Amino acid sequence: MAVFVLDKRSKPLMPCSEKRARLMLERGRARVHRMVPFTIRLVDRRMEDSVLQPVRVSIAPGSKTTGLALLRDSETVDATAGEVTRTAGVLMLLELQHRGQAIRDALTQRLAFRRRRRGNLRYRAPRFNNRTRKEGWLAPSLQHRVDTTTAWVARLRRWAPITGLSTMIHRFDTQRLQNPEIQGTEYQQGTLLGYEVREYLLEKWGRQCAYCDAEHTALTIDHIHPKSLGGSDRVSNLTLACFPCNQKKSNQDVRVFLAHDPKRLARIEAQRKAPLQDAAAVNSTRWALWGRLRGTGLDVEVGTGGRTKWNRKRFSVPKAHCLDAACVGHVDAIRRWQQPLLSIKATGRGSYQRTRLTRHGFPRGYLTRNKSAFGFQTGDMVKAVVTTGKKVGTYLGRVAIRASGRFNIQTGNGLIQGIHHRFCTLIQRADGYGYSWTKRALNKGDAGMGAAYAAALSLPGMNPGVSRAN
Ligand SMILES: [Zn+2]
Repeated sequence: MAVFVLDKRSKPLMPCSEKRARLMLERGRARVHRMVPFTIRLVDRRMEDSVLQPVRVSIAPGSKTTGLALLRDSETVDATAGEVTRTAGVLMLLELQHRGQAIRDALTQRLAFRRRRRGNLRYRAPRFNNRTRKEGWLAPSLQHRVDTTTAWVARLRRWAPITGLSTMIHRFDTQRLQNPEIQGTEYQQGTLLGYEVREYLLEKWGRQCAYCDAEHTALTIDHIHPKSLGGSDRVSNLTLACFPCNQKKSNQDVRVFLAHDPKRLARIEAQRKAPLQDAAAVNSTRWALWGRLRGTGLDVEVGTGGRTKWNRKRFSVPKAHCLDAACVGHVDAIRRWQQPLLSIKATGRGSYQRTRLTRHGFPRGYLTRNKSAFGFQTGDMVKAVVTTGKKVGTYLGRVAIRASGRFNIQTGNGLIQGIHHRFCTLIQRADGYGYSWTKRALNKGDAGMGAAYAAALSLPGMNPGVSRAN
């Protein structure tokens, strides 16, 4: 995993390798700027004197987890064919875990409590209409997804010289499917068009077998009116069938195959004629994200879900949110994707509700006005070196403060309770996210970020102290 590098005025330079970062720290040419993601600041370099290559952030938006990949593209132009081949070199893989459900739960609870509190007032006629919603309004849990993703793009721009963005809006390319030139075996697996057609059919037919409604099974593309009887290859003649149904139907006409079930036959006939646009479910969150990304002024490339899947299969890359991100858009090859990933979990910044309530809405206790205790705040990343007592050892993780001074530390190996504040050193201020470095290493490589991090901590006189938030 690459290390972010900043110049002496904190302007982003090209990310470097962990080894290089370690050497520069040892030689005193750099300072630790931030622990996670590991960022160093060169003391003697200015951005103006450095050579920067194009760096791209590629995004695979998801409902619970959004994959992000930091890529360095190298393009080679084939002079004879006039084609540009783009090879994406992976610099860093990140996964952002959203907290949409937590937001939804909190707001639902607030609504219930408020109803209980105010429900016994007498009825008053509304004085004005305060129920209008602005255009482009998203539910708070969805808005959060857009906000955190754009916030991370902005952060990455502060740490690396980002020149372009890639994201996904649609699952398939409607324009491409409308092309009447779809012929022969073109829709089959293996081609880009095949993947686009498949994504389209999955969306249109609700990810189930058209003949028996089987879900969560391998679905094959089926000609409603078989080709042997003159059926066309147009997408309007295609549906999805499970393997047994596909075998049973074989090259019968759908009217013969479904003679015993006229209702289903009518439904399939109606559904297959549905226009393309109706099947293309517009994902408002992805649209909103795309709008925000365009607002950055950078080039925003848009890929489809079908293309991402096609790329992933072509490059034999396993399924992971961050690797999906690396495969978004026009990519012809991908390098160095076998690396650990940084998991980023949106944790929020605590509750503003001063009164804690029980499940039944009765007050249970009060949050203190003061969010910090003994110089620490819940969410801070701390290192605790415990020298006495039962819990002797070194712990690194996210702290939850207690007024008593005995803190809890959430480490990679579980929760450690009752650590006295005097054992704790601040590593990084809370920024609304929890980090884990090697939660899911994609290969058996070294500890990635952990190694550079550990090396920095062990350097003599290299206590990072309080790094600046963000
Ligand atoms: Zn079936």
